[in-house]
Amino acid sequence: MFTANLSKFAYMLLLATDLDGTLLGGNYEEKHELYSIISANPSVRLVFVTGRGLPSILPLLNDPFIPNPDYIIADVGATVVDGKTLLPVEPLHTEIMSRWPGEALVRERLKQVPHLREQVVPMDRRCSYYLHEQLDITEVKSIANGLGCDVIVSAGKFVDVLPGGINKGFTLRRLMEMLNVPEKEVLVAGDTLNDLSLFETGYKGVVVGGAEKELLDATSGHQHVYQAERLGCGGILQALHHYNAVFDGI
Ligand SMILES: [Mg+2]
Repeated sequence: MFTANLSKFAYMLLLATDLDGTLLGGNYEEKHELYSIISANPSVRLVFVTGRGLPSILPLLNDPFIPNPDYIIADVGATVVDGKTLLPVEPLHTEIMSRWPGEALVRERLKQVPHLREQVVPMDRRCSYYLHEQLDITEVKSIANGLGCDVIVSAGKFVDVLPGGINKGFTLRRLMEMLNVPEKEVLVAGDTLNDLSLFETGYKGVVVGGAEKELLDATSGHQHVYQAERLGCGGILQALHHYNAVFDGI
């Protein structure tokens, strides 16, 4: 879709991207093009920012097609590790831990809420459930807030209970500050409501094609958010073109 002369790549870029529906979305050609740009250019850094838990990200790290991240923000912001060593990034990790009352207590308190079914997925420092049409989300929020936790509903089907103030955007912001990454070098990308906090950081961003309507509504009119038409990697490529941040001559 885009003809890029990789030898001309002269800009620093840190792509902080959601995985499902974003970096893992799009057609083969678009994936190949974006992954090649990331892998072939040392001036491009990559951060995974996902709702997945770490164990379900590990297979991606062994997939030669997918570029390896410099850092991984997992569990909707509640986990942050080095992409190579997989060790927690300190002191950020300790700060997140200090805001979390523990999975056991959160589960115990939320057990009484009717129609709240827990997801069976790997998770740390968060508890994730399914959204049911008869679920009283106000009750969930009230109990979670009482424990100092936040609640994020996304994709119309997931409910995440997180440490207070922790979300994808918070953890990315702190990480960028720790690494001294200039604001203009950062591009965030996502497709559902649990990505909204990424677009509220003030970094320039792309909502990729096929995104959740609520995310499109919440980010429409924001000057620093580009709403792409193409799915996944295609949308990120469109954003690189739109921001004219990457190549000469496109
Ligand atoms: Mg997604």
